[in-house]
Amino acid sequence: MTSQMEIPINQAADIIVSARKVVVFTGAGVSTESGIPDFRSPGGIWTKYQPILFQDFMSSEEMRRESWRRGKETYHLFADVEPNPAHRAVVELERLGKLDCVITQNIDNLHQKAGSSPDLVIELHGTAMYVLCMECGKRWPRAEIQKWLEEGVEIPYCDECGGIMKSATVSFGQAMPEKETMEAQLRSQRAEVFIVVGSSLVVYPAAHMPMVAKQSGAKLIIINLAETSFDMYADVLIRGKAGDVMQRLVERVKTKVGTKR
Ligand SMILES: [Zn+2]
Repeated sequence: MTSQMEIPINQAADIIVSARKVVVFTGAGVSTESGIPDFRSPGGIWTKYQPILFQDFMSSEEMRRESWRRGKETYHLFADVEPNPAHRAVVELERLGKLDCVITQNIDNLHQKAGSSPDLVIELHGTAMYVLCMECGKRWPRAEIQKWLEEGVEIPYCDECGGIMKSATVSFGQAMPEKETMEAQLRSQRAEVFIVVGSSLVVYPAAHMPMVAKQSGAKLIIINLAETSFDMYADVLIRGKAGDVMQRLVERVKTKVGTKR
């Protein structure tokens, strides 16, 4: 297995060495290696819980009560996790001056926690680190709201305007954040190299980004354990675990950069 990966890792490293604008796109596979459950996998949170649609959350007090009850229960799945070698490899790419940005489907803040510059991380599905007032836009750290919940608040409301408060994540049925989606599209168009890590590319419009990049002339590298529907378009396809492959890939890049100087 390991030796089979050597050739594609070397090819991918060559592509990265000769480029400057590398866009890394990360999905659930990167988070699961930090111990965060994949929401869509069997036994995942959404097979235990029926997802609460955005419209239902906004219109029903009962749904908000249920949503916060779940949020209180699952909070520590997100709060207590640590970055893994995949996140750290992305930080290394930034240090090497190769990284244009990270586009992530993950909501766990682990790229930033690993040391990626926050302004280089585009969170397509929002972040579980904050709670927003849907009325006035006030923002609280999620940790602070956890205290409210543990003190007995069942449904938090904004202490400024009384508005509905919601996790800053993108819910089922909720529109994608406009600014982040536009930015991600633009960066994908301009990318010289587009690396997909740990995403099966099934959730749109996020899954559209690699095609935007490819059609705009980028080299496409896909690193995923399972097949993706874009494998046939990949210039380099590496089947493996995100952390393991990314770590080896970045080490190879560093070696090549070193020998070139
Ligand atoms: Zn408010």
